[in-house]
Amino acid sequence: MPRNDVPNKVYLEAQELPTSWYNLIPNLPNPIDPPLHPVTFEPLRIEDLMSIFPKSLIAQEMSRDTYIPIPEGVQEMYRMFRPSPLTRAYCLEKYLGTPARIYYKYEGNNPSGSHKLNSAIPQAYYNKEAGIRRLTTETGAGQWGTALAVACAFYGMECVVYMVRCSYEQKPYRRAIMQTYDATVFSSPSNNTEVGRKILEQMPETSGSLGIAISEAVEDAASREDTNYALGSVLNHVVIHQSIIGQEAMAQMAKIGETPDIIIGCCGGGSNFAGLIAPFMGEQLAGRLNARFIGVEPAACPTLTRGVYAYDYGDVAGMTPLMKQYTLGANFIPSAIHAGGLRYHGMSQVISRLYHDKLIEATAVNQTDVFKAAKIFAVQEGLLPAPESSHAICQAINEALRCKETGEEKVILFCLSGHGNFDLTSYDNYNHGRIHDAPLSDEDLALGLSRLPKIPGIQG
Ligand SMILES: *Cc1c(COP(=O)(O)O)cnc(C)c1O
Repeated sequence: MPRNDVPNKVYLEAQELPTSWYNLIPNLPNPIDPPLHPVTFEPLRIEDLMSIFPKSLIAQEMSRDTYIPIPEGVQEMYRMFRPSPLTRAYCLEKYLGTPARIYYKYEGNNPSGSHKLNSAIPQAYYNKEAGIRRLTTETGAGQWGTALAVACAFYGMECVVYMVRCSYEQKPYRRAIMQTYDATVFSSPSNNTEVGRKILEQMPETSGSLGIAISEAVEDAASREDTNYALGSVLNHVVIHQSIIGQEAMAQMAKIGETPDIIIGCCGGGSNFAGLIAPFMGEQLAGRLNARFIGVEPAACPTLTRGVYAYDYGDVAGMTPLMKQYTLGANFIPSAIHAGGLRYHGMSQVISRLYHDKLIEATAVNQTDVFKAAKIFAVQEGLLPAPESSHAICQAINEALRCKETGEEKVILFCLSGHGNFDLTSYDNYNHGRIHDAPLSDEDLALGLSRLPKIPGIQG
């Protein structure tokens, strides 16, 4: 029997709020491979990261503890917008005519408009504690830059954002909100860094990429004593912070007596998906859950579904550590699709390991299908979703329609990672028939992969 005794929105009482993050890494059946120094190729040491990160975050990056306490100073800011609601998508279910029960965890309910604030807050907090007064970062779609600007403003720190050029031009209001929170925003590649000037000389017309913007932000941070760098996805400590999504979702599902059969998230660097699935995967690995986990990526940037599992850099200049991950090559520049937050060549180590070990699935979808799903969701659920999040919606709808065919009453849970209120140029393009599919060609794929780093004795 379909259950209709569940309220539309499930919240948590104060005493039910998670007080620790969940780290999946110590519970993986196969360990992640050690990150390597970008120049010596030796296993990375704590000292190698100290010019851009505080010790506390490096410790989290390397932590093998399952539960990591959330500092009170972080919980204080979390409480301004958390718990985020878990919503039963009754209207969407009815529209689709599916026997499936669809739930979404909405992370757009905060001033940054996405889940990114969940990590921006602790990153600013730990840096401030370590005596740092200025943070640099990159931003693709603008959500991460906004989140860090909000967090820095809250803790009274300076924020410098290198914004990928195509987003800088497509999304003037994203820049405006960052500046409202007193961040300094540069269009990347910029004249502000050596790497930026070099790229501008070689490719003056480039639309930019996250890889380039990361190189600029790291160079800026490494060259100043009072400045550190903050990354919005991919790294272990970011994934750990995002587990607040899964920790809450698990408590909320338990509260209404539901267990998810299918858990879905969109994948850029993998942080919202990893954060949602972390504690559920812990249950699965302990034999207490039997769910499918599906990461959804754009066909224009199909890191998991068409990339390779190899050591690669996080940036174009090769300044970041080498990490074993699914990658399309650090030099790969995806076409300027509208889900800017999903235009990244690599993937978090934990998602990569889980995918390589076939513990999660992945699928790639085209952006015309994504916007079609976004519009259905906007009408049925009354929320305008981010194009990134709409990748997850698209797959959730696909799974719900499969349930309609088979008559199975599955429980589907997905992460609605952000709202689309700053993506109206994209929606305008869709409404006027100007959104086209841009699947990655075999030639571009081969070109990106041909430039993977050669590491003596490890990777030929
Ligand atoms: C950045 C972003 C993503 C992609 O990043 P992940 O690290 O893969 O979560 C997805 N959705 C939204 C709304 C974003 O801002």
